[in-house]
Amino acid sequence: MSVRKRRKVIAGNWKMNMTPSSAKELAKNIYEQIKGKRGCDVVICVPFVDIPAVAQAVKGTMIKLGAQNVHYEEKGAYTGEVSAEMLKECGVQYVIVGHSERRQYFGETDETVNKRAKAALNAGLTAIICVGEQLWERECGITAEVVSRQTKLALYDVPEEQLAHVIIAYEPVWAIGTGKTATNEQADEVCGIIRSVIADKYGKQAAKQMIVQYGGSMNAKNAEGLLAMENIDGGLIGGASLKPADFAVIVNAAQQ
Ligand code: PEP
Repeated sequence: MSVRKRRKVIAGNWKMNMTPSSAKELAKNIYEQIKGKRGCDVVICVPFVDIPAVAQAVKGTMIKLGAQNVHYEEKGAYTGEVSAEMLKECGVQYVIVGHSERRQYFGETDETVNKRAKAALNAGLTAIICVGEQLWERECGITAEVVSRQTKLALYDVPEEQLAHVIIAYEPVWAIGTGKTATNEQADEVCGIIRSVIADKYGKQAAKQMIVQYGGSMNAKNAEGLLAMENIDGGLIGGASLKPADFAVIVNAAQQ
């Protein structure tokens, strides 16, 4: 069987920024900066209320639309939540699952990350599953253990056939929104560990095909070095994804 070549994926995470009208403008500005760049996949993950406006803005472009969370039930009495089918019908193709800000501030656990990932995959969405150690865990020397555990639990009961719709984003918590980036080597090492977890669970071929992103203060200056590393197949980008010119530099660095 032939092994699918890994294509880099640059995903912007706008977090809780942009009203619908400003989101539409930002999406258009991003498109202006990156049009014609087809050597990687580009996704923007926007707040729920911005989805219709951004869907309109990116229609017919190569920019794909993502959400930042999804509930694991299909429907019912879950006030304030949004289901995978709802997202799909609005044109969403990707969804971030288990971002460290959700784990830190909103009680997200490895179990709910797994349930959300499965709900997204079963609806045909691509799940960008975030894993990553906190600073004290790195200092204790248990980064590999933490990240392996999070990856295994997130993929519990996920069949191999769905892996083409899974992206793992390695995001060291100490690097998110702090301006501190993992070194190229630190990031590559942990992305490689994630790949070996995939190899143990699903086999070497699946591991070779798995898209593993790095996220954590990736910016216009450090993207090229990070994206050149063997195990890093793209980035999940917060702050810099709100700046079209910077985001475009990152997209450029990911061209294959
Ligand atoms: C993120 O939101 O996933 C992220 C990596 O943010 P930042 O790039 O701002 O560190």
